[in-house]
Amino acid sequence: MLARPASLDEAVRELEAGGIALAGGTEVLVLARDGLVRPGGHVRGPGPGTGPVRLVDVRRLLPAGVDGTTVGAATTLAELARSETVPEALREACRVAASPQLRNAGTIGGNLLQTTRCWYWRLSFPCYLHGGERCHARDGEHREHAILATEPCASAHQSDPAAALLALGATVRTTRRSLPLADLYRLPTSDNRSLTTLEPGELVLALDVPAPDASVYLRAADRRAFGSLQVGVAAVRTGEETRIALAAVAPIPWLLDSPAGLDTARPLPGSAWKVDVTRALVRRALERLR
Ligand SMILES: Cc1cc2nc3c(=O)[nH]c(=O)nc-3n(C[C@H](O)[C@H](O)[C@H](O)COP(=O)(O)OP(=O)(O)OC[C@H]3O[C@@H](n4cnc5c(N)ncnc54)[C@H](O)[C@@H]3O)c2cc1C
Ligand code: SF4
Repeated sequence: MLARPASLDEAVRELEAGGIALAGGTEVLVLARDGLVRPGGHVRGPGPGTGPVRLVDVRRLLPAGVDGTTVGAATTLAELARSETVPEALREACRVAASPQLRNAGTIGGNLLQTTRCWYWRLSFPCYLHGGERCHARDGEHREHAILATEPCASAHQSDPAAALLALGATVRTTRRSLPLADLYRLPTSDNRSLTTLEPGELVLALDVPAPDASVYLRAADRRAFGSLQVGVAAVRTGEETRIALAAVAPIPWLLDSPAGLDTARPLPGSAWKVDVTRALVRRALERLR
């Protein structure tokens, strides 16, 4: 079922009644097809409810485009990749993410809220993130999984732009509050398996992205064009401060205090190769900044 509310207030009411937000649809339609969206539930964790899913088309109702340092949630990745005003790290992260078709349809809001691509989760294994007791990747295939915060879920968050925005110190504006991007994410706990702090009915409206002195985004993928993200590194310099953030190395976008922070990496055996790749990319990104 598809709802097309006429106003943001109406959309919020639909979402509070159990609807699921639909922006570009590149992710949520696939999840709906695969039975990974539950009515009244949250696509990122185990959700209550059975029956038909009600998708709520919010795209036309959300701010779109870049206005100074503000980016509307409905701005597509392709628009950000073309923008001459957003910081280089964000532009590059959007330029290399996914494929041209996905960048044309996918919005930045939807990108930040994408679900894990862990195949056990996608195949509905009753794993920890789905509310179960064990991580199936731990004893199974986990070449592309996390290297940091791997307990109890070793999934790797696959957003290139999220790492750039985290390093840039972006703020998220929602229908309910304003918060640092870092606070949009959380690690799963026994009583709450969600990877975000977004509440039912809450929509991301816009991002405020401070302008740095310099910024860079580098990524390693399994192939150069349209390859799946394996490691992403964003580095940002503002005055004397340098911030580094990582993509695809933890269940959520990861702020790295310093390159030495990688000494705490505890990868599963098959993902250990990512530690060296991350170190190399961090080194290269910092050299580029200088
Ligand atoms: C094959 C494939 C490869 C990909 N590769 C990459 C990659 O390399 N790098 C990368 O960064 N990304 C990648 N992606 C992710 C892609 O960028 C996202 O699917 C896209 O940006 C999501 O945007 P959307 O508008 O289509 O979101 P939708 O599919 O409409 O929504 C995604 C999720 O966000 C929620 N949502 C959407 N907008 C809002 C909002 N404003 N407020 C609250 N909740 C909202 C929806 O309810 C849903 O849960 C890939 C996706 C696919 C399918
Ligand atoms: S890595 Fe996370 S999502 Fe994947 S099987 Fe383990 S608990 Fe589930």
